[in-house]
Amino acid sequence: MLLDELTQQAKLKTTNTIYESKAARDAFYQNQTWRNKRKEILRRDNNECQVTKSLGGVDKDKLIVHHIKPLEYYPELAMDDSNLITVSHTNHNIIHGLTLAKFNDEWW
Ligand SMILES: [Zn+2]
Repeated sequence: MLLDELTQQAKLKTTNTIYESKAARDAFYQNQTWRNKRKEILRRDNNECQVTKSLGGVDKDKLIVHHIKPLEYYPELAMDDSNLITVSHTNHNIIHGLTLAKFNDEWW
């Protein structure tokens, strides 16, 4: 199921860590290029959580454009459409593990 798959992929790591620091990730997320990409992905995904959709539901509340393979370890996929997916805040917390507050920076 999609949620399991996303949860597994969120744990992947490499040594290619140009976005390892919070400052580097903040700079990425604040960049206009990302903001435009985020809007594009939200549109592509019909402004709804794709995990909920895969289960037959609709959730358009508090959406996050999530990096399937983490930005931290896959910088080359930072803007790759195939590595981006719209998910609800609730499912995003599940994907990353509820206590990993550092991933909140993906929120914007
Ligand atoms: Zn995420």
